[in-house]
Amino acid sequence: MGFFDKFKLSKLREGLQKSHEEFVRKINRVFYQSRKIDDELMAEIEETLLLSDVGVATTERIIAHLEHEIQFKQWSEASQLRDELRAQIGEALINPLLKKEGIGGGNGHIAQLPPDPLLLKDGEYPKPYVVLIVGVNGVGKTTTIGKMAYNYRNAGKRVIIGAADTFRAAANQQLEVWAKRAGVEIVQQHHGADPSAVAYDTVQSAITKDADVVLIDTAGRLHTKQNLMAELEKMTRVMRKLKADVPHEVLLVLDATTGQNALQQAREFTKVASITGLVLTKLDGTAKGGIVIALTNELRVPVRYIGVGEKIEDLQPFDPAEFAKAMFGDMMFQEEVTSQ
Ligand code: GDP
Ligand code: MG
Repeated sequence: MGFFDKFKLSKLREGLQKSHEEFVRKINRVFYQSRKIDDELMAEIEETLLLSDVGVATTERIIAHLEHEIQFKQWSEASQLRDELRAQIGEALINPLLKKEGIGGGNGHIAQLPPDPLLLKDGEYPKPYVVLIVGVNGVGKTTTIGKMAYNYRNAGKRVIIGAADTFRAAANQQLEVWAKRAGVEIVQQHHGADPSAVAYDTVQSAITKDADVVLIDTAGRLHTKQNLMAELEKMTRVMRKLKADVPHEVLLVLDATTGQNALQQAREFTKVASITGLVLTKLDGTAKGGIVIALTNELRVPVRYIGVGEKIEDLQPFDPAEFAKAMFGDMMFQEEVTSQ
């Protein structure tokens, strides 16, 4: 079975159900039959987008665009605006990822998505392909690593997990459970060991064993920017003694249920670390899936994976078109409006 099969799609729909229902409910309330365009309508559209965590900057851009269209096309019916809103949301979700230019990452460029070994054959990606997973405590780093390991292994890759979250005593144990579930190896040291040493050992072991993918778990307690930067730099420096081009990816894990807080964390992390992609977890537990739009538009760092549950199979590569469908509906809110 491929990764993008029907089961996964229905799983995505299920995971995004809260976001979908909430959004459709609000939009139905805004676009009631035979409503005319006026300031109140515009204010309600704006509010709906903000409440779905689409983000201030993106919401303002969408509203400005809609107002321009109203003037230019002389629209008066709310229904005329609805289609344009749908198009704008789709655009906000998909377009930033296609554009080469843009803001983001502090360097004026959208991060290029590195090739994912999950989708590639041997020889088409650097080996071992080293992925560092970062993010604050509790966002779902360890869980995501377990899920990723499982997916890579199912794709026929040999995976080694590095337990570089050495701060918490229970961290190794938790990661071990996930490694066992995924059926992959784990490299660890004693509690309190230098995370860089663990990272080194893991890459070393991967080279020796000719492994395809290395997933390195990190601690989430690096509160200050200086700490975080120093720690990641050290890990990188030490690993590069073995292989000059690592890490190939630095994935920032964010908890979607924290909404605007997740956006703030993303801003902070992208300032101090070269984040290549985002993982948005717990989308099943929130009605604010619009956060994906805020993240892709305001940071221009691509969302790589999304978590839609606590189980090992509940991680999916992020596909903006599928996401748009699952969150906003195939026809978006069209059919629901008439059946209200
Ligand atoms: P870490 O501190 O960043 O390593 O976070 P953990 O991996 O330990 O996860 C923290 C909690 O979030 C755990 O209870 C996980 O089961 C839960 N979690 C992680 N990802 C998801 C997800 O996609 N959906 C749901 N519902 N829970 C998740
Ligand atoms: Mg952890």
